[in-house]
Amino acid sequence: MVTDPYATLGVGREATPDEIKSAYRKLARRYHPDVNPDNPEAEEKFKEIGQAYSILGDEEKKARYDQYGVTDDQPGAGGPGGEYFGAGTNINDLFEQFFGGFGGTGFGGGRGTGRDGDDVRADTTVTLHEVLTGTQRTIKYRRMAVCDHCQGEGAEPGTPVETCGTCNGRGAVMRVANTILGQVQTQTTCPTCRGVGKTIQTPCKECSGRKVKVQDAEVDITVPPGVDDGITLRVAGRGNDGVDGGTPGDLYVVISVQETPGTWRDNLDLHRVVEISYIQAVLGDKISVDALDGKIELKLDAGTQPEATSRVRGRGLPRLRGTGRGDFVVHWRLVVPKKVNEEQVAALKAFAEASGEKMPEAEDGGLLGGLFGKKKRKK
Ligand SMILES: [Zn+2]
Ligand SMILES: [Zn+2]
Repeated sequence: MVTDPYATLGVGREATPDEIKSAYRKLARRYHPDVNPDNPEAEEKFKEIGQAYSILGDEEKKARYDQYGVTDDQPGAGGPGGEYFGAGTNINDLFEQFFGGFGGTGFGGGRGTGRDGDDVRADTTVTLHEVLTGTQRTIKYRRMAVCDHCQGEGAEPGTPVETCGTCNGRGAVMRVANTILGQVQTQTTCPTCRGVGKTIQTPCKECSGRKVKVQDAEVDITVPPGVDDGITLRVAGRGNDGVDGGTPGDLYVVISVQETPGTWRDNLDLHRVVEISYIQAVLGDKISVDALDGKIELKLDAGTQPEATSRVRGRGLPRLRGTGRGDFVVHWRLVVPKKVNEEQVAALKAFAEASGEKMPEAEDGGLLGGLFGKKKRKK
Protein backbone atom coordinates (compact mmCIF):
# COMPACT_ATOMS: atom_id res chain seq x y z
CA MET A 1 0.00 0.00 0.00
CA VAL A 2 1.16 3.46 -0.82
CA THR A 3 1.42 5.61 2.27
CA ASP A 4 2.97 8.67 0.69
CA PRO A 5 2.32 8.94 -3.04
CA TYR A 6 4.63 11.96 -3.27
CA ALA A 7 7.54 9.93 -1.94
CA THR A 8 6.63 7.01 -4.19
CA LEU A 9 6.84 9.19 -7.26
CA GLY A 10 9.78 11.14 -5.86
CA VAL A 11 8.17 14.53 -6.28
CA GLY A 12 7.60 17.41 -3.89
CA ARG A 13 4.20 18.61 -2.71
CA GLU A 14 4.45 21.63 -4.96
CA ALA A 15 4.93 19.52 -8.09
CA THR A 16 2.79 20.54 -11.04
CA PRO A 17 0.50 18.02 -12.80
CA ASP A 18 3.04 17.86 -15.63
CA GLU A 19 5.89 17.12 -13.23
CA ILE A 20 3.82 14.42 -11.54
CA LYS A 21 2.96 12.87 -14.87
CA SER A 22 6.55 13.01 -16.03
CA ALA A 23 7.83 11.38 -12.83
CA TYR A 24 5.22 8.67 -13.18
CA ARG A 25 6.17 8.00 -16.79
CA LYS A 26 9.84 7.65 -15.96
CA LEU A 27 9.27 5.27 -13.07
CA ALA A 28 6.61 3.27 -14.87
CA ARG A 29 8.99 2.73 -17.75
CA ARG A 30 11.70 1.55 -15.41
CA TYR A 31 9.57 -0.88 -13.43
CA HIS A 32 7.18 -2.11 -16.09
CA PRO A 33 6.77 -5.93 -15.78
CA ASP A 34 7.65 -6.36 -19.43
CA VAL A 35 11.01 -4.75 -18.78
CA ASN A 36 11.53 -6.76 -15.60
CA PRO A 37 10.26 -10.25 -16.27
CA ASP A 38 9.97 -12.55 -13.23
CA ASN A 39 10.91 -9.79 -10.85
CA PRO A 40 8.30 -9.61 -8.05
CA GLU A 41 10.01 -6.61 -6.45
CA ALA A 42 9.77 -4.58 -9.64
CA GLU A 43 6.19 -5.68 -10.04
CA GLU A 44 5.32 -4.52 -6.54
CA LYS A 45 7.09 -1.26 -7.16
CA PHE A 46 5.23 -0.85 -10.44
CA LYS A 47 1.92 -1.32 -8.63
CA GLU A 48 2.85 1.27 -6.04
CA ILE A 49 3.81 3.74 -8.72
CA GLY A 50 0.48 3.17 -10.40
CA GLN A 51 -1.39 3.63 -7.11
CA ALA A 52 0.51 6.81 -6.34
CA TYR A 53 -0.27 8.19 -9.74
CA SER A 54 -3.93 7.23 -9.50
CA ILE A 55 -4.06 9.58 -6.52
CA LEU A 56 -1.82 12.43 -7.60
CA GLY A 57 -2.91 12.29 -11.21
CA ASP A 58 -6.54 12.80 -10.22
CA GLU A 59 -7.40 16.31 -9.17
CA GLU A 60 -10.11 15.25 -6.74
CA LYS A 61 -8.17 12.41 -5.12
CA LYS A 62 -5.06 14.53 -4.89
CA ALA A 63 -7.02 17.26 -3.12
CA ARG A 64 -8.45 14.69 -0.70
CA TYR A 65 -5.00 13.31 0.00
CA ASP A 66 -3.54 16.78 0.46
CA GLN A 67 -6.27 17.63 2.94
CA TYR A 68 -6.67 14.39 4.90
CA GLY A 69 -3.45 12.56 4.19
CA VAL A 70 -5.36 9.41 3.34
CA THR A 71 -6.97 7.93 0.29
CA ASP A 72 -9.86 5.59 -0.27
CA ASP A 73 -7.65 2.61 -0.91
CA GLN A 74 -5.72 2.89 2.31
CA PRO A 75 -6.74 0.83 5.32
CA GLY A 76 -8.70 2.88 7.79
CA ALA A 77 -9.93 5.35 5.27
CA GLY A 78 -13.21 3.48 5.08
CA GLY A 79 -13.07 2.66 1.43
CA PRO A 80 -12.77 -0.74 -0.16
CA GLY A 81 -9.18 -1.72 -0.77
CA GLY A 82 -7.83 -1.59 -4.24
CA GLU A 83 -10.47 0.63 -5.71
CA TYR A 84 -8.16 1.80 -8.41
CA PHE A 85 -5.94 -1.15 -9.06
CA GLY A 86 -7.78 -4.14 -7.73
CA ALA A 87 -7.60 -6.12 -10.92
CA GLY A 88 -4.16 -5.09 -11.98
CA THR A 89 -5.41 -4.39 -15.47
CA ASN A 90 -6.09 -0.82 -14.51
CA ILE A 91 -2.38 -0.23 -14.38
CA ASN A 92 -2.19 -1.19 -17.98
CA ASP A 93 -5.05 1.14 -18.78
CA LEU A 94 -3.15 3.97 -17.22
CA PHE A 95 0.02 2.88 -18.89
CA GLU A 96 -1.66 2.68 -22.25
CA GLN A 97 -2.84 6.25 -21.97
CA PHE A 98 0.78 7.21 -22.18
CA PHE A 99 2.45 4.64 -24.31
CA GLY A 100 -0.19 3.58 -26.74
CA GLY A 101 -0.92 0.12 -25.51
CA PHE A 102 2.10 -2.00 -26.24
CA GLY A 103 1.71 -3.71 -22.87
CA GLY A 104 2.30 -7.44 -23.23
CA THR A 105 3.36 -7.54 -26.84
CA GLY A 106 5.66 -4.57 -27.18
CA PHE A 107 8.58 -5.11 -24.85
CA GLY A 108 7.74 -8.76 -24.32
CA GLY A 109 8.06 -9.57 -27.98
CA GLY A 110 11.52 -8.08 -28.12
CA ARG A 111 10.38 -5.08 -30.10
CA GLY A 112 10.75 -1.49 -29.08
CA THR A 113 8.11 0.98 -28.13
CA GLY A 114 8.42 2.88 -31.35
CA ARG A 115 8.21 6.61 -31.42
CA ASP A 116 4.88 8.34 -30.94
CA GLY A 117 3.78 10.99 -33.39
CA ASP A 118 3.57 14.61 -32.29
CA ASP A 119 0.36 16.55 -31.94
CA VAL A 120 -0.45 18.90 -34.78
CA ARG A 121 -2.24 22.23 -34.69
CA ALA A 122 -4.61 23.61 -37.31
CA ASP A 123 -6.75 26.73 -37.31
CA THR A 124 -10.21 27.59 -38.52
CA THR A 125 -12.47 30.61 -38.35
CA VAL A 126 -16.21 30.65 -37.75
CA THR A 127 -18.75 33.44 -38.01
CA LEU A 128 -20.92 34.59 -35.13
CA HIS A 129 -23.87 33.00 -36.88
CA GLU A 130 -22.00 29.69 -36.85
CA VAL A 131 -21.37 30.16 -33.14
CA LEU A 132 -25.15 30.17 -32.79
CA THR A 133 -25.88 27.18 -35.00
CA GLY A 134 -22.71 25.14 -34.84
CA THR A 135 -21.17 24.02 -38.10
CA GLN A 136 -19.17 21.43 -40.03
CA ARG A 137 -15.70 22.12 -41.31
CA THR A 138 -13.29 20.25 -43.49
CA ILE A 139 -9.88 21.02 -42.05
CA LYS A 140 -7.01 20.87 -44.51
CA TYR A 141 -3.60 20.64 -42.94
CA ARG A 142 -0.24 18.95 -43.22
CA ARG A 143 1.03 16.10 -41.12
CA MET A 144 3.84 13.59 -41.00
CA ALA A 145 2.20 10.43 -42.29
CA VAL A 146 3.56 6.93 -42.85
CA CYS A 147 5.64 6.95 -46.04
CA ASP A 148 3.69 5.18 -48.75
CA HIS A 149 6.84 4.33 -50.69
CA CYS A 150 8.46 2.18 -48.01
CA GLN A 151 5.25 1.50 -46.03
CA GLY A 152 6.92 2.95 -42.97
CA GLU A 153 9.81 0.48 -43.07
CA GLY A 154 12.41 3.14 -43.81
CA ALA A 155 14.26 0.98 -46.32
CA GLU A 156 14.16 1.49 -50.07
CA PRO A 157 11.89 -1.30 -51.33
CA GLY A 158 13.91 -4.29 -52.54
CA THR A 159 17.01 -3.45 -50.52
CA PRO A 160 18.21 -5.66 -47.66
CA VAL A 161 17.24 -5.11 -44.06
CA GLU A 162 19.64 -6.72 -41.62
CA THR A 163 19.35 -7.86 -38.05
CA CYS A 164 20.77 -5.28 -35.65
CA GLY A 165 24.20 -6.29 -34.39
CA THR A 166 23.96 -4.41 -31.11
CA CYS A 167 20.90 -6.18 -29.80
CA ASN A 168 20.87 -9.20 -32.11
CA GLY A 169 17.42 -8.26 -33.23
CA ARG A 170 15.91 -8.17 -29.75
CA GLY A 171 15.37 -4.44 -29.88
CA ALA A 172 16.46 -4.06 -26.28
CA VAL A 173 19.70 -4.19 -24.31
CA MET A 174 20.31 -4.82 -20.62
CA ARG A 175 21.74 -2.05 -18.52
CA VAL A 176 22.79 -1.92 -14.89
CA ALA A 177 21.87 1.32 -13.19
CA ASN A 178 22.78 2.57 -9.74
CA THR A 179 19.66 3.87 -8.07
CA ILE A 180 18.57 4.83 -4.59
CA LEU A 181 17.32 1.27 -4.28
CA GLY A 182 20.73 -0.16 -5.11
CA GLN A 183 21.84 -1.70 -8.38
CA VAL A 184 18.96 -2.30 -10.70
CA GLN A 185 19.26 -4.18 -13.92
CA THR A 186 16.96 -2.76 -16.50
CA GLN A 187 16.21 -3.49 -20.07
CA THR A 188 16.26 -0.47 -22.34
CA THR A 189 15.57 0.20 -25.95
CA CYS A 190 18.54 -0.57 -28.20
CA PRO A 191 20.23 2.71 -29.11
CA THR A 192 21.45 1.46 -32.49
CA CYS A 193 18.16 0.34 -34.00
CA ARG A 194 15.87 2.25 -31.60
CA GLY A 195 14.17 -0.96 -30.66
CA VAL A 196 13.26 -2.10 -34.15
CA GLY A 197 15.79 -4.96 -34.15
CA LYS A 198 16.80 -4.28 -37.73
CA THR A 199 19.22 -1.98 -39.52
CA ILE A 200 18.66 -0.52 -42.92
CA GLN A 201 21.31 -0.45 -45.65
CA THR A 202 19.64 1.79 -48.20
CA PRO A 203 17.26 4.34 -46.74
CA CYS A 204 13.98 4.94 -48.56
CA LYS A 205 14.46 7.61 -51.21
CA GLU A 206 11.17 9.34 -50.46
CA CYS A 207 11.46 9.74 -46.71
CA SER A 208 15.25 9.40 -46.32
CA GLY A 209 14.62 6.54 -43.94
CA ARG A 210 12.51 8.60 -41.56
CA LYS A 211 9.54 6.30 -42.26
CA VAL A 212 7.15 9.24 -42.32
CA LYS A 213 6.91 12.23 -44.61
CA VAL A 214 4.93 15.44 -44.84
CA GLN A 215 1.59 14.88 -46.51
CA ASP A 216 -1.62 16.80 -47.05
CA ALA A 217 -4.42 15.70 -44.82
CA GLU A 218 -8.10 16.44 -44.44
CA VAL A 219 -10.48 15.82 -41.62
CA ASP A 220 -14.14 16.71 -41.13
CA ILE A 221 -14.95 18.21 -37.77
CA THR A 222 -18.11 19.34 -36.07
CA VAL A 223 -17.86 22.73 -34.41
CA PRO A 224 -20.46 22.73 -31.64
CA PRO A 225 -22.64 25.79 -30.97
CA GLY A 226 -21.33 28.24 -28.42
CA VAL A 227 -17.61 28.14 -29.19
CA ASP A 228 -15.53 31.11 -28.18
CA ASP A 229 -12.35 32.55 -29.61
CA GLY A 230 -9.39 30.30 -28.79
CA ILE A 231 -11.43 27.16 -28.03
CA THR A 232 -9.55 24.06 -29.13
CA LEU A 233 -11.17 20.94 -30.54
CA ARG A 234 -9.20 17.70 -30.31
CA VAL A 235 -9.34 15.07 -33.02
CA ALA A 236 -7.71 11.97 -31.58
CA GLY A 237 -5.12 10.16 -33.67
CA ARG A 238 -5.07 12.63 -36.55
CA GLY A 239 -1.75 14.26 -35.69
CA ASN A 240 1.61 12.99 -36.93
CA ASP A 241 1.89 9.25 -37.39
CA GLY A 242 4.18 7.35 -35.04
CA VAL A 243 6.96 5.15 -36.34
CA ASP A 244 7.82 1.56 -35.53
CA GLY A 245 4.47 0.97 -33.88
CA GLY A 246 4.28 4.26 -32.00
CA THR A 247 0.86 5.85 -31.68
CA PRO A 248 -0.16 8.83 -33.77
CA GLY A 249 -0.48 12.23 -32.13
CA ASP A 250 -3.70 14.22 -31.98
CA LEU A 251 -4.90 17.09 -34.11
CA TYR A 252 -5.87 20.24 -32.23
CA VAL A 253 -8.07 22.64 -34.15
CA VAL A 254 -7.97 26.15 -32.71
CA ILE A 255 -11.15 28.12 -33.36
CA SER A 256 -11.21 31.84 -34.07
CA VAL A 257 -14.47 33.70 -34.19
CA GLN A 258 -14.67 36.26 -36.97
CA GLU A 259 -14.89 39.79 -35.69
CA THR A 260 -17.81 41.93 -36.73
CA PRO A 261 -17.29 45.70 -36.45
CA GLY A 262 -19.58 47.27 -33.87
CA THR A 263 -20.33 43.88 -32.34
CA TRP A 264 -18.76 42.19 -29.33
CA ARG A 265 -19.55 39.41 -26.94
CA ASP A 266 -19.52 39.35 -23.20
CA ASN A 267 -19.78 35.72 -22.17
CA LEU A 268 -23.14 34.67 -23.65
CA ASP A 269 -24.42 38.18 -24.33
CA LEU A 270 -23.97 39.66 -27.76
CA HIS A 271 -23.64 43.44 -27.91
CA ARG A 272 -24.22 45.58 -30.99
CA VAL A 273 -24.04 49.29 -31.66
CA VAL A 274 -26.97 50.76 -33.61
CA GLU A 275 -26.89 54.39 -34.72
CA ILE A 276 -29.93 56.63 -34.32
CA SER A 277 -30.57 60.22 -35.25
CA TYR A 278 -31.45 63.11 -32.97
CA ILE A 279 -35.00 63.07 -34.33
CA GLN A 280 -35.39 59.34 -33.59
CA ALA A 281 -34.01 59.83 -30.11
CA VAL A 282 -36.38 62.68 -29.40
CA LEU A 283 -39.54 61.33 -30.98
CA GLY A 284 -38.99 57.58 -30.63
CA ASP A 285 -39.21 55.08 -33.49
CA LYS A 286 -39.58 51.47 -34.48
CA ILE A 287 -36.21 50.11 -35.50
CA SER A 288 -35.37 46.81 -37.14
CA VAL A 289 -32.05 45.36 -35.98
CA ASP A 290 -30.19 42.39 -37.50
CA ALA A 291 -29.70 39.77 -34.80
CA LEU A 292 -27.91 36.43 -35.21
CA ASP A 293 -31.11 34.67 -36.15
CA GLY A 294 -33.05 37.19 -38.21
CA LYS A 295 -34.33 40.66 -37.51
CA ILE A 296 -35.61 41.98 -34.21
CA GLU A 297 -38.15 44.80 -34.24
CA LEU A 298 -37.34 47.16 -31.42
CA LYS A 299 -39.34 50.09 -30.09
CA LEU A 300 -37.18 53.10 -29.40
CA ASP A 301 -38.79 55.19 -26.68
CA ALA A 302 -39.35 58.90 -27.20
CA GLY A 303 -36.66 60.76 -25.28
CA THR A 304 -34.01 58.05 -25.52
CA GLN A 305 -30.74 59.31 -24.09
CA PRO A 306 -27.30 58.91 -25.71
CA GLU A 307 -25.64 55.56 -24.84
CA ALA A 308 -28.97 54.02 -23.79
CA THR A 309 -29.30 50.26 -24.27
CA SER A 310 -32.08 47.79 -25.01
CA ARG A 311 -31.79 44.18 -23.94
CA VAL A 312 -33.55 41.33 -25.73
CA ARG A 313 -33.61 38.22 -23.56
CA GLY A 314 -32.54 34.89 -25.05
CA ARG A 315 -31.39 36.16 -28.43
CA GLY A 316 -27.66 36.12 -27.66
CA LEU A 317 -25.18 33.25 -27.93
CA PRO A 318 -25.75 29.66 -26.86
CA ARG A 319 -23.85 27.98 -24.05
CA LEU A 320 -21.13 25.58 -25.21
CA ARG A 321 -22.41 22.02 -24.60
CA GLY A 322 -25.23 23.39 -22.54
CA THR A 323 -28.67 24.89 -22.86
CA GLY A 324 -30.03 28.40 -22.94
CA ARG A 325 -28.86 31.53 -24.66
CA GLY A 326 -27.58 34.88 -23.51
CA ASP A 327 -29.12 38.23 -24.38
CA PHE A 328 -28.86 40.49 -27.39
CA VAL A 329 -27.97 43.97 -26.19
CA VAL A 330 -28.40 46.99 -28.47
CA HIS A 331 -26.37 50.08 -27.67
CA TRP A 332 -28.11 53.11 -29.14
CA ARG A 333 -25.60 55.59 -30.40
CA LEU A 334 -26.86 59.08 -31.05
CA VAL A 335 -25.29 60.46 -34.20
CA VAL A 336 -25.07 64.24 -34.48
CA PRO A 337 -24.97 65.57 -38.06
CA LYS A 338 -21.60 66.94 -39.06
CA LYS A 339 -23.07 69.29 -41.65
CA VAL A 340 -26.36 71.13 -41.85
CA ASN A 341 -27.68 73.37 -44.61
CA GLU A 342 -29.21 76.83 -44.22
CA GLU A 343 -32.73 75.44 -44.18
CA GLN A 344 -31.81 73.11 -41.30
CA VAL A 345 -30.17 75.95 -39.40
CA ALA A 346 -33.33 78.00 -39.78
CA ALA A 347 -35.36 75.07 -38.49
CA LEU A 348 -32.99 74.66 -35.54
CA LYS A 349 -33.35 78.39 -34.82
CA ALA A 350 -37.10 77.93 -34.71
CA PHE A 351 -36.64 74.89 -32.48
CA ALA A 352 -34.38 76.87 -30.17
CA GLU A 353 -36.92 79.66 -29.93
CA ALA A 354 -39.73 77.21 -29.25
CA SER A 355 -37.58 75.64 -26.51
CA GLY A 356 -36.80 79.05 -25.02
CA GLU A 357 -33.14 78.42 -25.77
CA LYS A 358 -30.75 81.10 -27.06
CA MET A 359 -29.05 80.37 -30.37
CA PRO A 360 -25.35 79.78 -29.75
CA GLU A 361 -22.97 82.41 -31.15
CA ALA A 362 -19.99 80.95 -32.93
CA GLU A 363 -17.38 83.49 -33.95
CA ASP A 364 -15.25 81.20 -36.04
CA GLY A 365 -14.74 77.52 -36.66
CA GLY A 366 -18.20 76.63 -35.39
CA LEU A 367 -20.97 75.54 -37.66
CA LEU A 368 -22.69 78.94 -37.76
CA GLY A 369 -19.39 80.65 -38.23
CA GLY A 370 -18.56 78.29 -41.06
CA LEU A 371 -21.80 78.99 -42.80
CA PHE A 372 -22.23 82.69 -42.15
CA GLY A 373 -18.95 83.83 -40.64
CA LYS A 374 -16.21 85.99 -42.09
CA LYS A 375 -13.90 83.07 -42.90
CA LYS A 376 -16.42 81.68 -45.33
CA ARG A 377 -16.81 85.00 -47.09
CA LYS A 378 -13.07 85.55 -47.46
CA LYS A 379 -12.74 82.49 -49.70
ZN1 LIG B 1 9.86 5.87 -47.06
ZN1 LIG C 1 19.35 -3.03 -31.99
